[in-house]
Amino acid sequence: MKKISLVIPSYNEELNVTRFFEETEKAFSDSKYNIEYVFVNDGSKDGTLNSLKKLYNEKNANFRIVSFSRNFGKEAAIYAGLSNATGEYTAVIDADLQQRPEVVLQMAQILDSKPELDCVAAFQEQRKESKLLVWFKNRFYSLINRMTSVPFVSGASDFRLFRENVREAILSVGEYHRFSKGIFSWVGFETEFIPYEVMERESGSSKWSFIKLFKYAIEGITAFTTKPLHLATVLGSLCICGGSIYYIVALILALCGNGWCAMGLIAASIFFVGGMIMLCMGILGEYLSKIYMQAKNRPIYLAKHVLVKDKTDTDLK
Ligand code: UDP
Ligand code: MG
Repeated sequence: MKKISLVIPSYNEELNVTRFFEETEKAFSDSKYNIEYVFVNDGSKDGTLNSLKKLYNEKNANFRIVSFSRNFGKEAAIYAGLSNATGEYTAVIDADLQQRPEVVLQMAQILDSKPELDCVAAFQEQRKESKLLVWFKNRFYSLINRMTSVPFVSGASDFRLFRENVREAILSVGEYHRFSKGIFSWVGFETEFIPYEVMERESGSSKWSFIKLFKYAIEGITAFTTKPLHLATVLGSLCICGGSIYYIVALILALCGNGWCAMGLIAASIFFVGGMIMLCMGILGEYLSKIYMQAKNRPIYLAKHVLVKDKTDTDLK
């Protein structure tokens, strides 16, 4: 029997983790796969850890429960989950049942039938989000695809199933600022994309506000391309050209007796150039902060508890 490790990042999902377990058991009950639940409690403030301990104590299943010392974010939770997974196949799936476990079964069957494939990834054909958010997400994908050589498939998240070779490759990318969508793509391997429908959240609320998504988008761009750094050169050149024209216009105005008008133009150009300089410094800062954090070489996550239970032998680490 093939073992599928399900890596489930969970942050404030006290009701969802139990439902997730039940739904997954149902979906895989008649299948030929053995499931290993790798739950990562990402410093939840609600009863997620208690719900997970209850599952661990009461259910006869393979469990690896990693509980963080605080909230480190979904990316760190995915990394921790992958580090603890032991299955031949590994899937990354959300705890809120927006991504159905039945799709993982479908992915596993595809991997079984196609030995040349290393990964099956799911993408949303139809986004069930506000039109404005969909518009911003589409712009993000077209921008990042233009800026990087790594392909980003619009609508494809980290919901995917892959073989051990892909898991090892992802883990070998040890960067502190992780952008899984990009890492999955960067490591390469043969990937098939299948469409899936995103369900409504079972309970609780999304942890992604617009600001958080915006920061995440910046994180993605800076992690996979240095092109914004070259923007400073382009903007600098544009400013020099624009500034020269301004200077000539201001000079003509001043000679014609329109001194105040010339002053106004010069003041506007100072604001413009100042803004450009600040923008370029901001871009430099984005990269510098990443170098700074990486240079500290801090761990991607810290675990407070790790519980391990295999169906055959039960032990507590
Ligand atoms: N999540 C996490 N750490 C966080 C935020 C989210 O582990 O800091 C988990 C969350 O519990 C869920 C998954 O990541 O299982 C996706 O989060 P969410 O449902 O909030 O995102 P959305 O579906 O709205 O994009
Ligand atoms: Mg969700």
